[in-house]
Parts: sequence; structure tokens; C-alpha cells
Amino acid sequence: MESKTAYDVIIIGGGAAGMSAAQYAARSSLRVLVIEEKAEGGQAVLIDKLENYPGIGEPVNGFDFAVTMKKQAENFGAEFLRTKVTGIDKSGKGYEISIEDNDSSGETKKLYSLVVIVATGAEHRKLGIPGEKEYYGKGVSYCATCDGPFFRNKKIAVIGGGDAACDEASFLSRLTDNVTIIHRKPGFRAQKAVADKVLSNPKIRVIFNTVVTEIKGGENGAVSSLALRNIQNGEGSEIPCDAVFIFIGMTPRTELTATVKMDSNGYIITDENMATSVPGIYAAGDIRAKPFRQVVTAASDGAIAAHSAAEYISNLNASTEK
Ligand code: NDP
Repeated sequence: MESKTAYDVIIIGGGAAGMSAAQYAARSSLRVLVIEEKAEGGQAVLIDKLENYPGIGEPVNGFDFAVTMKKQAENFGAEFLRTKVTGIDKSGKGYEISIEDNDSSGETKKLYSLVVIVATGAEHRKLGIPGEKEYYGKGVSYCATCDGPFFRNKKIAVIGGGDAACDEASFLSRLTDNVTIIHRKPGFRAQKAVADKVLSNPKIRVIFNTVVTEIKGGENGAVSSLALRNIQNGEGSEIPCDAVFIFIGMTPRTELTATVKMDSNGYIITDENMATSVPGIYAAGDIRAKPFRQVVTAASDGAIAAHSAAEYISNLNASTEK
């Protein structure tokens, strides 16, 4: 059996981009559903103290921030559903969204929407070494802007050799004069200008040809050192550190949107209205090809996507009435 429910806008992903889109779309009197597989809030819920979102004054906990965003969207009339989306298919003027049944009735659930906003984000690639999970939030971080300020004047290590690792190492060197960047190759992969900034920075020590084999903790339950292995001679060593920032790439979660245009890194290409290459499908937040991924830029993307969705639907309705 199949059941179908119709919406104006279905937003896939309940992070900052999705919830901002929900709020703006619902406030435009559109019927809106946000589908999120896990708890709403996305990466923001992992932020202990969110202190760089404009207008919040005192730092707020990321989880509390997410709860407020959801409440705000609900107050404007957005609906939320916790389940997994398994497919997006063109159907008539809009899209049919297949979702995993979570009432175990064996029913295939299909929802219908004129517009889809994809806000499923991107995941930080993990090293997968001992200590990485255990000390996450206790010195292990994937966001220098979010967590760097907690390690002012401390010993900071950065892992990776791309633009993100080099950029963030430079950023972190403004907070401490004790940054060590560790990369597995003999040279950086980052753009020359970005890499040169690191290589000429006296506050940054560079260790090439080396991998981190373990993140170790101290008696206080936080990161205290890194076990290293030189991949040329196999020699092991250990360096003390208070925080380790891991920048070994991101994986955008685009498995649902294989038909939209993406860049060479797999991020969805949009125009400034958040429109993808497929009419009626918009993308917002970290899944989108863009230079700066932050809660504030995700929220901004969401608002723009919702505004564009409203215009698209209004044009769609106008063309149907003709
Ligand atoms: P990249 O994929 O460019 O770099 C990832 C780095 O991590 C590489 O040096 C890679 O090593 C290393 N790495 C990957 N897996 C492992 C592992 N398991 N163990 C150790 N090291 C590992 O990712 P970025 O996030 O740096 O950048 C992504 C995209 O965003 C790029 O296109 C980049 O140009 C762009 N960007 C641009 C910025 C700018 O212009 N200022 C800033 C930030 C990002 P190896 O080199 O050996 O493969």
C-alpha cells in the first residue's frame, strides 16, 4: 500500500540550513515539512559554545540553539518528521519523496512536494585512529573557528595538507604561537599561496611524511599527546598537545541528488538563489559548493532557498492558471 501527502516544500536535513529554510518558507504561508534522519540541529549540536553567530550576545550551547531554531520554525507552522529519505523522483509539477517507514507497517511511504530543498550537509572525514572518538569535544575538533578560541596559548596540532588544514593552521597561529601541522606527504597539497603562508609562519612547525597513529589523553580526560609514525623510516615518536584539529577533507552527503550538477569535490553547484541545475530542487548549507561553511552561512543559504522556493511556486501556480 502507498500513502501520499502533499507539501509545497519538503526540506531534507534539519541542520541550520534546513531549519532556517523551514522558518522562512513556513512564514511565507507555504506548507512545509522538514525530514531529518537523526536529531535536528546537524553539526551545530556538537558545538559546546556557539559564540560567533551574530546577535546572540552570550555564547549559547549548540544543542539549545538547535532546539530554539526548531521551535521557531514550528511556531511559523513548519512540520517535522524523523525518518530517512530514500529517493527523490520527478512527479507531475513536483517531486515524489520516498521515505523509510518508521511505524513498521511495511508500507512504502511517499510524500509529494512542489519544491525540494536539500540541506543534508557534509561530514568531516575521520582519521579512524584510537582516541579520535573518545576525545572528541575534549581536544579533538573538526572546526577551528568554533573551538580554536578555547585553546588560546595552548599547544595545538593540525592534521592534513590541503587548503583547509593550511588555512586553519594559519588561523590558529593567531591564538597561540605553538601550532604543529602534521601531513603524511612530503609537501602540502594546498594552493601555493595558502601553503606558503604556513611554511613562512614562525609560529607553525611543520612535520611532513608523518601520520598520527593515536590521540592520547591525560589524567584530566582531555587530549594530552599524539603518537606519530614517520612513514619513510617507520620511526615512532610522541608530541605533547592540548588540542588536535583534523582537516582531512569533507564528504558531502549527496547520495539523494545524483542528477544535479556537482563540482569536482562532489559539492552541489547552485546559483546565488540556491537553485541547482534541476528546476524545483534547491540546495542549502554545507552540501553546496561554497568557500565558507559556518552556521551563519548555512542559515543564510536556507533563508535564500526558501525565498527562491516561494517565488518558484508562485510562478508555477501562475503558469498553471493561464
Ligand atoms: P582536501 O581533500 O583538499 O585535502 C585533504 C588533505 O587531508 C590532503 O592533504 C590529504 O592528504 C589529507 N588526508 C586525507 N585523508 C587522510 C588520512 N586518512 N590521514 C591523513 N591525511 C589525510 O580537503 P580540504 O578540506 O583541505 O579542502 C576541500 C576543498 O575545499 C578543496 O577543493 C579546497 O581547495 C577547498 N578549500 C579551499 C580553501 C581556500 O581556498 N582557502 C579553504 C578550505 C578548503 P594527501 O595530500 O596525501 O591526499
